[in-house]
Amino acid sequence: MKYKEQSQKYIRLFANCFLTRGVVRSLIIDGFRGGFDFIPNDLCDILSSGEHLRIADLYETYGVENQEVIDEYLDFLFSNEYIFLADDNDKDLFPALEPQWKYPATINNAILDIGPEGAYNLEKALKELDELQCVALQIRVYQKRSMDFLRQLAQLTHELTIEQIEVFLPYNELLDPIELQHLAVQFQKIKGIVLHSAPKSYVIDNDYIKKIVDIVFLEYELTDASHCGIVNLEYFSTNIDHYMESQFYNTCLNRKISLDQFGNIKNCPSQQKSYGHIDRSSFRQALEHPDFKKLWTVKKEQIAVCQVCEFRHICTDCRVYLEEPDNMYSKPAKCSYDPYTASWEN
Ligand code: SF4
Ligand code: SF4
Repeated sequence: MKYKEQSQKYIRLFANCFLTRGVVRSLIIDGFRGGFDFIPNDLCDILSSGEHLRIADLYETYGVENQEVIDEYLDFLFSNEYIFLADDNDKDLFPALEPQWKYPATINNAILDIGPEGAYNLEKALKELDELQCVALQIRVYQKRSMDFLRQLAQLTHELTIEQIEVFLPYNELLDPIELQHLAVQFQKIKGIVLHSAPKSYVIDNDYIKKIVDIVFLEYELTDASHCGIVNLEYFSTNIDHYMESQFYNTCLNRKISLDQFGNIKNCPSQQKSYGHIDRSSFRQALEHPDFKKLWTVKKEQIAVCQVCEFRHICTDCRVYLEEPDNMYSKPAKCSYDPYTASWEN
């Protein structure tokens, strides 16, 4: 009984740490520092069993034969700073965070796909995103472009509300890595440049540059929007904002607006349904359509299989590429995780 001397103290989960119970195992998420650990469902149940749980209660409930396991659980939780101990008189001074997610603007992120040159007026689209107070922009280019294109994009977005830009574009010899670094240093809204279809995959490994921008060369070829929708551990997000949003909204499509590579306005570029062309209509008009926000509130608890998955509140979602295309509540087709066996297929 390693914690005998503290046995009258109360176990409190730090308010920034969240539990998600899965069908065979659970997650404990550190929403402040980022990251998570797997924990057994037994431990998740213990930690969820109420706010007034003393160490002594644990020893008593689980008996002498389980004392070693309880000590191991506590060692793990203390060493990772998931829990702390409170006295009788201060145990109620650390309330859990109330689940809520609020955002002051209608749109906070956008994807602009860019295909054939001149397919739509990019400047108009960016100006409208600015009026909507969009802060995060992903641009996916499918045809080779020069440095001038990137320079123009950086200049067009320089004065806008957009705070961070990630650009995917095909590799070509004219995109000189040194010039890309200079551009990113000059226009620090560009946080990521991914050159796909490159001869080999590598990352620009310069400590100074990495603080400003990730410049990545990828052998993988991106030919159109159908490459989107992959669910993978690398894309999971463990911050408080994402965790809270996932309690109420869809973590991919909520507050998103997009253009496909031909300029058609959509919630996401991969969707079939378009809400007009940006040159002849506007983002605001599209947002007024009763169907535009239909998927914004589809949360993981409503989605088959995901609803029992321990990753459901840190996972990105996809509502376009589905296991059952006609069922908007079916599992993302490009997720190979099976929460019933806790294993990834590939
Ligand atoms: S819904 Fe799917 S295809 Fe659309 S942006 Fe999200 S992940 Fe990509
Ligand atoms: S099963 Fe659902 S929640 Fe779990 S990893 Fe796959 S998509 Fe995400």
